Amino acid sequence: MSSQASIAIAQSVQLRAAVLLPLPLPQAYDYALPEGVVAKRGLLVRAPLGGRELIGVVWGKPEGGVASDKMRLAVPIDGLRLPPMLCDFIDWVARYTLSPPGAVLAQALRVRGVFDPEVPRKALIAGTIVPERMNPARERVRALMTDGLARVPSEIAELAGVSPGVVKGLADAGALKWVSLPEFEPCREPDGAFDAVKLSPDQLRAAEHLRDAVKKREFSVALLDGVTGSGKTEAYFEAVAEALSEGKQALILLPEIALTVQFLDRFEARFGCRPVEWHSDLSLRERKRAYRAVMRGEARVVVGARSALFLPFPKLGLIVVDEEHEHAYKQEEGVIYHARDMAVVRARLENCPIVLASATPSLETYVNAKIGRYEWLKLAHRHGAAEMPEVRLVDMRIDHGEPGQFLSPALRTALDNTLRAREQALLFLNRRGYAPLTLCTVCGRKETCRNCSAWMVEHRYKKRLVCHHCAYEIAIPERCPQCGAEHSYIACGPGVERVEEEFRAAFPDARVAVASSDTLFGPAQTQGAIRAFAVGEIDVIIGTQIVAKGHHFPRLTLAGIIDADLGGGAGDPRSAERSFQLLHQVAGRSGRGDRPGLVLIQTRNPEDPVMQALASQARDDFLEEEMRIRERSFIPPYGRLASLILAGEDALAVRETGRELALAAPKAQGLSVWGPAPAFYQVLRGRTRERLLVQAEKTIDIQGYIRAWLAEVKIPSSVHLTIDIDPISFF
Ligand code: ADP
Ligand code: ZN
Repeated sequence: MSSQASIAIAQSVQLRAAVLLPLPLPQAYDYALPEGVVAKRGLLVRAPLGGRELIGVVWGKPEGGVASDKMRLAVPIDGLRLPPMLCDFIDWVARYTLSPPGAVLAQALRVRGVFDPEVPRKALIAGTIVPERMNPARERVRALMTDGLARVPSEIAELAGVSPGVVKGLADAGALKWVSLPEFEPCREPDGAFDAVKLSPDQLRAAEHLRDAVKKREFSVALLDGVTGSGKTEAYFEAVAEALSEGKQALILLPEIALTVQFLDRFEARFGCRPVEWHSDLSLRERKRAYRAVMRGEARVVVGARSALFLPFPKLGLIVVDEEHEHAYKQEEGVIYHARDMAVVRARLENCPIVLASATPSLETYVNAKIGRYEWLKLAHRHGAAEMPEVRLVDMRIDHGEPGQFLSPALRTALDNTLRAREQALLFLNRRGYAPLTLCTVCGRKETCRNCSAWMVEHRYKKRLVCHHCAYEIAIPERCPQCGAEHSYIACGPGVERVEEEFRAAFPDARVAVASSDTLFGPAQTQGAIRAFAVGEIDVIIGTQIVAKGHHFPRLTLAGIIDADLGGGAGDPRSAERSFQLLHQVAGRSGRGDRPGLVLIQTRNPEDPVMQALASQARDDFLEEEMRIRERSFIPPYGRLASLILAGEDALAVRETGRELALAAPKAQGLSVWGPAPAFYQVLRGRTRERLLVQAEKTIDIQGYIRAWLAEVKIPSSVHLTIDIDPISFF
């Protein structure tokens, strides 16, 4: 469908339009519209389908072919409309990811009941009547309400410290008067001039560039490339301020919810109020409020996870993608897309600037900056007096401690020094739980998941073995099911819980917390630990990647990486890059305040280029070398990749389909199809998986190729096919 903003369809009796429904259907369906309705693209309607009524969107001209008497009626919802630009974006994402447009639309319509009419809240304000009987409780309510504000009864009771009965009594007596309030509190408007900080000359240069870009109201991409702690946030906040003064909306994407806590505080300090949040942790009510405020243009700044990209902004003037290199931006289920890449697309369609911020840019972005397609803004120094930390490698082949210990003598000494100086330390290990592998010492049996070809991970707090892929869990066996030996299981290798155990034994007086994205440590608990660490209630935080990124802890002067050799997955062309980015981010937490920082990296491969680059802090040399490797092997950004993943409970059918697909692959110049090969975890959640990989030269239309290919093959209904364009995960 073309991007016509409105399509008026002239027909004598009834108007018709193609309506897209938020379902994985191949196309939009024709519906009739009530008389007098202009069929504008984006118009929201309630449309019947089968026995249900769905929210749909007028997408374009009717396809035709449906008899008039079969035509069903779609009814507009209060004239509400998705911005046409969002519709164009949805079409674009669908084409690029080879997803049904309706499945992409579903990303934009995920808030249940969001278009229902608002239900006003009943609230009370001070009345004119003074009741005859006053008492201290009633007096407190009266004093509270003299400010003339309307409040809901529960709020009054809470603020005045009285029972709900007291409030009701006063309302009955006429001392408080009922009024109605809108269902949702209005959004406060961030103030671009609230508390601007004084920028360093570097920051100022970057900020002015970004401000100009916003003022131009044109598409442009800037890489804000600043060392950890250089104040990238302060620099792009200036662009946000400019968007505010231009009357536009701004969207800031963050890779993880865990990062939002500190971010919201900083935003409030700079702009005087909190931005609107958008992520999976919001309640339905909060989501409704945010969605409606965005749609009306009242939510001026939105901070969100990748799904915020599909919000109905009517006047988007700026997108920021913070930590643009993060793999959390890749949505791996349903519609598979990379939010950073799609953010660039949305900015182009909206004709607004986009800022990609990182201390360790992805190779894709780095290359675009290098060849001048993106503006390259550099912040080479840490803010204020802070210097980059000293980085040392600890060769664990030589400098290890006792068997079964994971803290080397060097790291123990450094921890001791840090604690004595009343500074803070971060111990990083990208492994949840107690131990990654549990085995029977008598017969060597390893516990594997019954649904996945993966090992069960011991979680000692829970006293359970847990699969990290499907969450299947069992009690730790008392007796080996294979050889019958009792209490024969031992834990192999470290997880964060085990590092904590060892740390506590070595430093019994230190205050320590574990933060990982576990079921036991939900987002709230993790955020609690991060807050406590930030305000100095904890000395040492032991965590997975959740604590490694983006946070600013001024008293943190030691970062210890427990096992730097836990790189990316097998066959993953980005594993070196990924490893470098993660470890560099961890290292970047150290020494951000006024005291110098130290980073100790425990490794068994100190000669590895990743370790060498970290130790010598030679990021660009590392990236240049990676570029050469990828260029030679036609790996992105020098070539294109797509994965076809087949999965199903019937292993035979999956394998058979894989073979047929491979045989049916059309020959094409500059393009190869590899596989089928079993996926890294061949069985996941009870389903057998096979993978085909398409590798193509950059100029080839890989989507067109796959479309033509799949048109020739019938996939049985027992086999599920997932297409992953630009895959970053090779499990
Ligand atoms: P980055 O995101 O580049 O790693 P941050 O934006 O977190 O760095 O900045 C590091 C710290 O320095 C933050 O506490 C931030 O508030 C502070 N900071 C940065 N720039 C300034 C400035 N111009 N004035 C005052 N404080 C600043
Ligand atoms: Zn499992």
